[in-house]
Amino acid sequence: MCTFSDEELARYQRQMTIPEWGEKGQGKLKEAKVVVAGAGGLGSAVLTYLAAAGIGNIRIIDNDVVDRSNLNRQILHSEKDIGKKKIDSAREKLATLNSDIRIETIGEEINENNVFDLVADYPIVDALDNLPTRYLLNSAAIKNKLPLFHGAIYGLEGRATTIIPGTTPCLHCLYQGSLPGEIPVAGVTPGIIGCIQATEVIKYVLDIGELLTNRLLVYDGLSLKFSEMKLKKNPNCAICK
Ligand SMILES: [Zn+2]
Repeated sequence: MCTFSDEELARYQRQMTIPEWGEKGQGKLKEAKVVVAGAGGLGSAVLTYLAAAGIGNIRIIDNDVVDRSNLNRQILHSEKDIGKKKIDSAREKLATLNSDIRIETIGEEINENNVFDLVADYPIVDALDNLPTRYLLNSAAIKNKLPLFHGAIYGLEGRATTIIPGTTPCLHCLYQGSLPGEIPVAGVTPGIIGCIQATEVIKYVLDIGELLTNRLLVYDGLSLKFSEMKLKKNPNCAICK
């Protein structure tokens, strides 16, 4: 079992008093490894809350640089970071939030040749903004039997689901083809969806509660309603059948 410094005990005190969590659960988080693909809008929310919760090893993959047009939603990055690599900006911010965790950054574009090395054997957070790269993550997750925490946004709408290979449909069962390049985004939307993804990661690591499996959570910010769609495997799916 993990031992904690006095500083760590103080930092995590309020979450360790959750009955299902406790010091044992905090130890699981400390030993956990998670890879987050994308340090943009979704990634900003996911990374902030995973780091704050004490996920001990976080790998961030992103090959983009901070642009002024990112600042309405990508809250890990600031005006002074414009032109800087997002992985560097993200690592700096997260290190000031929690210096007890290890943050590893990879500034590569994910492609079919490197995706298996990049995700290793870590649970994967899909905080990307394009379907072709999401499909690569999905294939790696299915092949290596890794959970994939999917989130997507459009304007004031968002979606999330948790994919467990062998148990749930995969991303390719749900989506096919591609979406248009630059989409409208209100900054609050990736904040909400990213927090849902982070909640799922934490529950998965702690092995508590009920995961968002076999269902797609659909969020509509305009009406402020959450709804759910039941998901079924596509028996003809080229990736997971
Ligand atoms: Zn599938």
